Amino acid sequence: MLNYKSNVSAIITGEGGFFMSSKALEQFLDEHIEDLKSRGLYNEIDIVEGANGPTIQIGGRELINLSSNNYLGLATNNTLKQVANEAVASHGVGAGAVRTINGTLDLHKELERKIAAFKGTEAAISYQSGFNCNMAAISAVMDRNDAILSDELNHASIIDGCRLSKAKIIRVNHSDMDDLRKKAKEAVESGQYNKVMVITDGVFSMDGDIAKLPEIVEIAEEFDLITYVDDAHGSGVLGNGAGTVKHFGLQDKVDFQIGTLSKAIGVVGGYVAGKKNLIDWLKVASRPFLFSTAVTPADAAASAKAIDMLMESNELVQLLWENADYLKAGLKDKGFDIGNSETPITPVIIGDEQLTQKFSKRLFESGVYAKSIVFPTVPRGTGRVRNMPTAAHTKEMLDQAIATYEKIGKEMGMI
Ligand code: PMP
Repeated sequence: MLNYKSNVSAIITGEGGFFMSSKALEQFLDEHIEDLKSRGLYNEIDIVEGANGPTIQIGGRELINLSSNNYLGLATNNTLKQVANEAVASHGVGAGAVRTINGTLDLHKELERKIAAFKGTEAAISYQSGFNCNMAAISAVMDRNDAILSDELNHASIIDGCRLSKAKIIRVNHSDMDDLRKKAKEAVESGQYNKVMVITDGVFSMDGDIAKLPEIVEIAEEFDLITYVDDAHGSGVLGNGAGTVKHFGLQDKVDFQIGTLSKAIGVVGGYVAGKKNLIDWLKVASRPFLFSTAVTPADAAASAKAIDMLMESNELVQLLWENADYLKAGLKDKGFDIGNSETPITPVIIGDEQLTQKFSKRLFESGVYAKSIVFPTVPRGTGRVRNMPTAAHTKEMLDQAIATYEKIGKEMGMI
């Protein structure tokens, strides 16, 4: 006889045991999962069998991988693997404690020193992820008496970081400098807010366009706005690898430069680079730093080495751009609409959501892994297959991908 309360449902598990769960939770999960499935939005996650490189294996099949953020191919770099192994041997597999208590390793300090040198700032602080940076940094500085001007296409982690701060969030039309100026003026002249911040992605991840930083900085100077750039997709890509802020030569004019160590750097983690007093403040006031253990010794050492490599040579960044230009030209030549990307991010805009998903599925069946991105991630009717070329792709791989696109484009009557 099962012993459970009447407001709890018992679920018989595959192993013959049972699991007790709230009826309200069961109802919530059933309804919401069913709803997503009925709208074709339930994401079945593919399992990559082995390393995430220019080709990957899924379901026993090898595919050309155009879906990673591994821009420079560093996720599988042999030097970084060796450095990570050495860090495990010398420092173990974990940091041991939250950094303020007992978990700041020499490797973390060294990583931060290198990030600051790389970004051209006085100091830097590292976090466990890019997502965590936005949870940490915005709410350490902004509160309910402040306002944040946020581009409508900003990344989810920026949106969540803004919400966490409880500041008034003022949505700005995407890269619309007139709208930004108007809303900055209104916010400042209202006298309602102690501080006003303007926050933007450096490179917008769904379209590959670059934020108009020179104009943003000019407006910020006019209205004394705090400037915050999340450069997850610009670091390792623009400004000889140092990012969008460097690309525009604005290192002295942007207060917060956020980056991730999980994309071009190839490892995991994130950072904020800026003036020393800002970084000092984040070390005492940002909660993910104060209450969550730092990245492992291997992660810190491999990230630091990757930054060394980028500071020493521009070769991988150049290779990335060569490959990106090659793929873009090839797809455009075949008649595809590749949008207005200014960076290696290469969307193939299809429009209709179902057609986009079908296209991506056909690519998969034909040996190319490129994901469909549809509403609500992008506006309705602008579904696209997003391609992420990397420095590690060979021309043969890109040729094969372009040929596959052509085959499916013709098959589906699109080109
Ligand atoms: N910010 C932006 C703009 C991003 O694109 C991403 C990654 N999708 C993140 C932050 C999160 O970075 P991470 O994966 O290191 O948490």
